[in-house]
Amino acid sequence: MPLFSQLGLSDAMQSNLARLGYTEPTAVQEAAIPPALAGRDIIAMAKTGSGKTAAFGIGLIEHLNARLFAVQALVLCPTRELADQVAKALRELARARENIKVLTLCGGVALGPQIGSLSHGAHIVVGTPGRIQDHLRKGTLTLEKLNTVVLDEADRMLDMGFREGMDDILGRCPQRRQTLLFSATWPSAIRLLSESYQSDPVDVRVVDNEPAPDIDEQFYEIQPDQQIDALTALLSREQPGSCIAFCTTRQQCDDLAGALNDRGFHALALHGDLDQKDRDAVLVRFGNRSCTVLVATDVAARGLDIKSLPLVVNIEPARDSEVHTHRVGRTGRAGETGRAVTFCTPAQGHRVSKLEHQRGTAIHWGDSEALLATGNRPMVPAMRTLCIAGGRKDKVRPGDVLGALTGDAGIDGKRVGKIDLFEFQCFVAVQAEVAPVALKRLEQGRIKGRKFRVRAV
Ligand code: AMP
Repeated sequence: MPLFSQLGLSDAMQSNLARLGYTEPTAVQEAAIPPALAGRDIIAMAKTGSGKTAAFGIGLIEHLNARLFAVQALVLCPTRELADQVAKALRELARARENIKVLTLCGGVALGPQIGSLSHGAHIVVGTPGRIQDHLRKGTLTLEKLNTVVLDEADRMLDMGFREGMDDILGRCPQRRQTLLFSATWPSAIRLLSESYQSDPVDVRVVDNEPAPDIDEQFYEIQPDQQIDALTALLSREQPGSCIAFCTTRQQCDDLAGALNDRGFHALALHGDLDQKDRDAVLVRFGNRSCTVLVATDVAARGLDIKSLPLVVNIEPARDSEVHTHRVGRTGRAGETGRAVTFCTPAQGHRVSKLEHQRGTAIHWGDSEALLATGNRPMVPAMRTLCIAGGRKDKVRPGDVLGALTGDAGIDGKRVGKIDLFEFQCFVAVQAEVAPVALKRLEQGRIKGRKFRVRAV
């Protein structure tokens, strides 16, 4: 069994990893950390969940000069959600060192505060290509002292049309640098990207030892006007703790989420029309289990990191079988049994035939009549979300929020769920029964000696 102690890490990093509960390196970490520490370029095929963030993050952090307040590492990500996750993971890894600053720079939020944060100096910048370009053009971000650039989920960045942006950014990085490229797939465009920007990269391709996910998949034939009935019937029957329903259009998402709410389900729509703040709030509420159904388009659902999802529903079959497989792959992760249901009108039958043909196995059709006969039984989320109008910028930390809720004669800590901290606000999930008391306590009490506006969302 490989050990972190065999990979050439500092003692401080090793004890930090132990604190984080990383007892042994994952396959990609074992293969990528030694060449990364040695300063080599790396091209790695690794998916989310493989431990890829630490595979590049550990080397980045070990190489930093904490006393030099200049951007020494840049991580490019396709989406803001991924950038946030990566930054969070890097901050945890950086606890091995003192005073390491990790800054996220993504679009959809004002430039001003980012410029302010940059002026205070950051060691690592994590961001999406568009916004990084904005800062480079304005001169608010300089990469003169950059040692390492990481292209995370490079295949998705290419899919999303970021090639030009990446070219622009990489063209502004110092010639002498380390370039780490991580990608879940291996299309020729990725090899071309590597050829253009890497020198003699170490090829890390980890054999996927994970067992094929155990997904129970079913298809139901319905009429076009039965989508809402079929979905509510399915949710009433299955009562999943949480579920994503995939739609094709934004309008469909809004209509379906609205119809579900009318029938007593707690659903939220996630699509490209939402501004960043609303999107964050939707993802927080779904992630902390105060909203049970997320009605989403494929593009909007990119970068979602939801660990265990008991049910995925396709309101209609995806046009493309790869998209179908990607959607369905969100359930049955980490060894759990998953469930995926696809509704299909007679006119859409050819999409399912195509899928069947590609898989080479027959598809299992369920009894639609029996399904549609299920009575309406809404699911009530166990948690509620409270939103505090203070965040990282106000020096609020999760522990402060927990402390304000618990403490003497307060709420039992076990009743407090996920705490999501943002720049200017913080969301805390509490069990539904204690939500009114929790709201009152937060409204009347103080956090970091200050009163903040609090509301239930
Ligand atoms: P990633 O593939 O980077 O998104 O990581 C997936 C998850 O695995 C994250 O929640 C990490 O915190 C966790 N993780 C990464 N490396 C290890 C490790 N060596 N041992 C245990 N957990 C890990």
